[in-house]
Formats: sequence, C-alpha cells, structure tokens
Amino acid sequence: MTTTDNRISAWLACPECEAPCLDRQLPKKAELRCTRCGVRVKIASGRHSLQPAWAFATAGLFVAILANVEPIMTFDVAGDTQSNHIVSGVIELARQGYGPVAALVCFAGVIAPVLHLTAIWYVASACCLRRRWPAVHRVAVLIEMLEPWNLVPVYAIATVVAVVKLDMMGTVDWKAGALWILVLSLCSLCAAEAFDRELVEERLEALK
Ligand SMILES: [Zn+2]
Repeated sequence: MTTTDNRISAWLACPECEAPCLDRQLPKKAELRCTRCGVRVKIASGRHSLQPAWAFATAGLFVAILANVEPIMTFDVAGDTQSNHIVSGVIELARQGYGPVAALVCFAGVIAPVLHLTAIWYVASACCLRRRWPAVHRVAVLIEMLEPWNLVPVYAIATVVAVVKLDMMGTVDWKAGALWILVLSLCSLCAAEAFDRELVEERLEALK
C-alpha cells in the first residue's frame, strides 16, 4: 500500500467469530458488519480531519500565554488596589501555608492545561503533516491522562463566583486576563472535543 492510496486494504478479524472481513474506508456513520455472524466489526469515526483539533490547540497555546501574563481583575478596598494574575493566587495560597492546595491550583490551572494543549498540538500536527515524530503514540496516551486535569473551565467559573463575592466588599474591575481565561476554556474544550482518538490511531497506522 502506498501513502497516496487512501483506501485501507487489510483484513480485520470479527470480534465474535474471528472471520476475516476486508477493511475499507467507511462513509460517515456507516459500519462494517461480519458477513458470517452479523456482528459489528468496525464503525466509521464521526470525523475525517484532525485540523480543527490542531487549530484549537494552536490558538489555545497562544491564549494560555496571554491568560497568564495579563491581570484578571483589579480589586479595590478602601483605596488599597490590588491587581491579580493566575499565578498571584497560587503565590498567595503558598504564602498562607496552603502549600499542597497551591501546588494543585498551579498544576490544574497552569501546567496541566498547557501540557494538554501542547500534547494535542503535537499529535494533531504529526497526523496533519503526516510526520512520524518521536513518541507520538505515548503523547496520544498522555492526552487522555491530562484531559481531566485541564481545569481552566472550572477556574473560569470560580473567577466569576469570586468576583461576585468580592464585589460586595469593594470595587472589582475585570481586566483582559479574564477574557483570555474564557477564550482558553473554550479552546481547551473545543480541542478536546475535536480530538478523535480513533482517527489518530488510523492516521498513525497509515504512517507506518
Ligand atoms: Zn463474525
């Protein structure tokens, strides 16, 4: 099989009776059934491109930089103004003696989202550019492990709740960082949604 031939020609074993079924590229939502026992052997993945995942991951990585360098809000109580970044929350928690909580917030709010998006970017790039990059299979596994730790959407909601509460005590002003956190949440959710593991396996298999 050459790489220009996008028809997959290999034999798949039926999971029930092990009869060989000729593998082929299926149209959307179609499925391949065993001719002997009728069991489903293969189902077409809903997607045919990893480019949306690639695009969302690329955008997300740029936005992650902005979300971490721009202040989220300024808080003014009796003339004492304070500007807040994501990292200032982590530092404040550590300073107050909540080391493990600070580490958890830092991991779920900064490190894991960046690693998650980087991993999606790496695997999606390799698939879209048809390159066999090192450890791409392991990175694909890592994405599933990191996904539950990307808690930026939770952080975004928590920020809104905090602002509502703080508004009772002083004056709170939203800053650009808040918008970037919202955009980062959307990019993370869309990248994870557009990343199809089965399609990745199919693409990586074709590169061998
Ligand atoms: Zn069968």
